[in-house]
Amino acid sequence: MRIVPAVTPLTAPFWQAAREHRLVVQSCGACGGLQHPPAPLCRSCHGSQLGFRQVSGQGTLYSFTVVHHSVHPATAGEVPYVLALVELVEGPRLVANLRDCAVEDLVVGLGLEAVFEDLTEEVGLVQFRPARSS
Ligand code: ZN
Repeated sequence: MRIVPAVTPLTAPFWQAAREHRLVVQSCGACGGLQHPPAPLCRSCHGSQLGFRQVSGQGTLYSFTVVHHSVHPATAGEVPYVLALVELVEGPRLVANLRDCAVEDLVVGLGLEAVFEDLTEEVGLVQFRPARSS
C-alpha cells in the first residue's frame, strides 16, 4: 500500500507531470527563478506569475537520513528506507525516497537521477536512484 499525496491546485501540475514521468519545478515569469516545493509567490522576487518548467531529473545527494522506525502502517514493510534531500542540477532541492542503492554506498555528492512510480491516474511519485552514467 502506498500513501497517495493530497493534491491541491498549487501542486497538481507537479504530481501530474510525475505521472507522465517528467520532473517539473515552479518557474517565475518575472525573474526566471526556479523553486520547489510549489508556492503561491516566487521566493526570490515575490512575483506571482509562476508556471512550471521541466528539468532534467539529474542531481546530487545533498543530505539524507535512513528511516528505521515506521510511523505509518503504509511504510511498515518498507523500513529501512532512505529519505534524501536531492539538489537538482538546475538548483532547487527536493525531498524524495532514494532507491536501488545500499545504505553503505550512500555518500553526499552522489550523482542521482529521477525515476517515477505511478500511484493513480493523476499522481506519480518522484524518487531517485544512483545515476546510471556515474
Ligand atoms: Zn521571481
